[in-house]
Amino acid sequence: MKQDIKKLVTSLPKIDLHRHLDGSVRIETIRDAAISHGFPLPTKNLKKLKKYTCVSRKCRSLSMFLEVFNFFYEFLKFPDVVERIAYENCEDAKKENLKYVELRFAPPLQATKNFPISDVVKCVLRGVKQGSKDFGIKVGVIFCIYRSVSEEENWVTVKLAEKYFGDGVVGIDLAGDESKYPTYKFKKFFDYARSVGIPITCHAGEASGPESIADAIKLGAKRIGHGTMLYKDEELMKKVRDKEIPLEICLTSNLQTRVVDKITLHPIKKYYDYGIKITINTDDPFVSQININSEYLLAQKTFNFSLEDIKQIILNSVEASFLPKKEKQILKKEIVKEFKF
Ligand SMILES: [Zn+2]
Repeated sequence: MKQDIKKLVTSLPKIDLHRHLDGSVRIETIRDAAISHGFPLPTKNLKKLKKYTCVSRKCRSLSMFLEVFNFFYEFLKFPDVVERIAYENCEDAKKENLKYVELRFAPPLQATKNFPISDVVKCVLRGVKQGSKDFGIKVGVIFCIYRSVSEEENWVTVKLAEKYFGDGVVGIDLAGDESKYPTYKFKKFFDYARSVGIPITCHAGEASGPESIADAIKLGAKRIGHGTMLYKDEELMKKVRDKEIPLEICLTSNLQTRVVDKITLHPIKKYYDYGIKITINTDDPFVSQININSEYLLAQKTFNFSLEDIKQIILNSVEASFLPKKEKQILKKEIVKEFKF
């Protein structure tokens, strides 16, 4: 029976609404990028290289988690690499049986003097467009305002999101260390995004408490990235449920960054039973060494979700997606058609 559930859960078509482009890079691509752009590597052996590029069991915090990115980030700041990553993300998502994925990234982080933010954006959108066409998968791109970059760079990001909204871009996110750069400080970007009709999601309640989630909602976020700390404020939990604000839950990521000490302590099931629209996502599949199926299986196994619950969570993701209404309906039809049991 256990084996059956595993098979059935894996076979269901899925959606990932919270996946970072820079956290979903193939190990071969990291090696090739380093070699072709002249960076020394401690080893060319892919298995050994993973020790530097993926989170280990010793990870105890969000900052330790983010350190892993430092090892390979410099290799990513080139047009050919950025486009390749975007393209390969589509192929990898397709292999995971994802019908739709929302890929997010903060354009200034991959920009350099010779590779401006506007070109980073063009490379990502080109890679995604080609990849979604070649592999037959729907992909929406989310640009992240980043908490630790300059205001000027964040304005460039927001204006580029406006330029490409509806032409590859589906939304805006706020990412980076929320404990050091509180959400309310980014009000002007949220205000602008709302004024031009771009939907917003926001990392909140991961490294900070429920007040960060409350701020994100006040500023107009349509979804919350993580929201793990929501249970600490019952009033707010009620508000999130009643306003039907979906949570983008990322189980393994929360465990690796020690937002929860043990997977059994994760509030996902509490939220689901309470009636909150939860979704299951990967965050950084390569860095965390997971995929969307392993996350669904982890949820199912740990919290005893039934197949009906799993289907409901997948449908929550359809509803929570930033696709235009019409495309959402088409996606829903496609997904339901594949629910054979
Ligand atoms: Zn994230």
